[in-house]
Amino acid sequence: MATDPTAVVSRRGQERIERGQPWIYKSDVAQLSPDLRGGGVVKVVDGRGWFLARAFYSDQSQISLRVLSRQEVEVDRGFFKSRLESALALRKLLFPETSAYRLVHGEADGIPGLVVDRYGSHLTVQLLTQSAEANRELFVELLQELLAPACIVERSDVKVRAHEGLPPVKGVLRGTPRAPLTYREGEVEIGLDLLEGQKTGGFLDQRENHLAAGRYARGRCLDCFSYVGGFALQMARAGGEVTAVEISEPACAQIRANAEHNALKLNVVAANAFDLLRDQLDAGERYDTIVLDPPAFAKSKDAIDAAIRGYKEINLRAMQLLNPGGVLITASCSYHVDEAAFEALLADAAADARREVQILERRGAGRDHPVLLGLRETRYLKCHVLRVL
Ligand code: SAH
Repeated sequence: MATDPTAVVSRRGQERIERGQPWIYKSDVAQLSPDLRGGGVVKVVDGRGWFLARAFYSDQSQISLRVLSRQEVEVDRGFFKSRLESALALRKLLFPETSAYRLVHGEADGIPGLVVDRYGSHLTVQLLTQSAEANRELFVELLQELLAPACIVERSDVKVRAHEGLPPVKGVLRGTPRAPLTYREGEVEIGLDLLEGQKTGGFLDQRENHLAAGRYARGRCLDCFSYVGGFALQMARAGGEVTAVEISEPACAQIRANAEHNALKLNVVAANAFDLLRDQLDAGERYDTIVLDPPAFAKSKDAIDAAIRGYKEINLRAMQLLNPGGVLITASCSYHVDEAAFEALLADAAADARREVQILERRGAGRDHPVLLGLRETRYLKCHVLRVL
């Protein structure tokens, strides 16, 4: 233990650690041992040399240190094993009836940079930092031990890895993936392609919101930005007459297959949702339930204004399209547009649409995507349920 290299942090870095904030920026690192390599574990100390934490170190990212523990413990196989067991215990507590969930949510589960989704016998992993990358084999071994999955797919094909000096990576780490792979959300079975689909497979963060949409759906329903139909399928199952809109052709094909597999009728339209919303208004169409779940329009701080314009436009159109008393389920997964900004743009949209709007629920990502109090970035998804009068 004593041999771990050391990082000395500034007063501000020390305060962040003491407040449970796991990210320490480069500017708050005063000194590093010469033997420290990117991807390694470091002992973090204050100006007097007193122990503060053990952390992962990156030599490329602006986030130099990611705290693993504020206890003076050994960061070894047993350490990560117990973190994985704790993550699994939480999911079993939350969702005893399903084996599809986010199993590890990075920092929020005490393993910075590691994301693991579980779809029954299949796992997908995403390694977002140098240290997560350095521990790929260990994580895979531990997951094998813990769950004996039939297959583990890696989906580290994301741009954020560039901040760590890492290339995008995608592939099969263990076993052979079934395509499509199906998993359950309530009464519905969803099929998707873990290797060729988006993200780490499905949008598990919306799982509980899909089920909520099923509870609100009635009459004519429109699901914009549908991906493989998570919202659309629940609404159709609830008896709604549903149109799903999605720009990607392969995703549209998967929505159709999913509808057929569940013996549900869905009208699937391959289109740009911005255009479709406008066209439906021009054609005088009306709906009773609308879902808006666009991709992150603001991927960086600089893009916030344009993103807000985009969110406002689709929400305005949806409000105009709703019959009186209609329900709008509207999401934003841009961390940079926080809940206050999101509600402000919804208020602007309501004003322009000349509609009174009630907020019925302020939802977020599913509980298998825990929010860490010390890391606001883990609270990224907003999903409001509105009633448009
Ligand atoms: N609602 C889905 C997840 C949506 S992710 C779920 O709950 O599972 C966002 C989706 O929007 C992606 O599938 C992407 O292909 C699609 N998309 C992106 N831009 C679009 C556009 N302009 N019009 C319609 N779909 C779009």
